[in-house]
Amino acid sequence: MKIPLPPAPGTGEHPCLALVNTIVTLPGGQRVDELDSPEKATAWLVTQELVPEGTGLLEYCQLQLTDLRGHLRDVLDSQTKGVAPDSLSLDGINHALTAVPNAAPLRYDPAEGLSRIPIHPLTQLVDHALANITEDAASLLTGPDAHRIAQCASTPCDRFLIRTHSRRQWCSERCGARQRANRAYARKHDKASAG
Ligand SMILES: [Zn+2]
Repeated sequence: MKIPLPPAPGTGEHPCLALVNTIVTLPGGQRVDELDSPEKATAWLVTQELVPEGTGLLEYCQLQLTDLRGHLRDVLDSQTKGVAPDSLSLDGINHALTAVPNAAPLRYDPAEGLSRIPIHPLTQLVDHALANITEDAASLLTGPDAHRIAQCASTPCDRFLIRTHSRRQWCSERCGARQRANRAYARKHDKASAG
């Protein structure tokens, strides 16, 4: 299922935000995951122009992508709360950031002597895609926009965004309207119970 909301602010510029927002809790509490199969994970990477069209995806690559998403959500969440990030999540991001193989390793075989081990082209593609996403995350988290990273304040929505102005805390007009309606309802309710 596609997420029935327009992209959150900042998602177009930041592949790391696009990735963390591939899973969302809808107003009714339903959890939607756009990466719940290898095919969908591939389609997402193609849409983001992180791998060329026609790329096939292995199951373990889908898991790498969803694992990284979990680590990124963790670290972004810590950033918005101003607390220390989980070290396992930081390690996961750093692993993806530095795992790009740029040279084929050397191997020795008694019969054949020395040769290079070719890097599997699919692994290379996925490693590059993950490195691109984490590079984006690392620059965002240490750049001038780091303090504008926010999580949608309209519960139960949990998408991340870059605040476009200081007060905007929601990911879409629809979430903003829902939050205002909830607030109005709460005020009415308070008045009713106080009077
Ligand atoms: Zn939202």
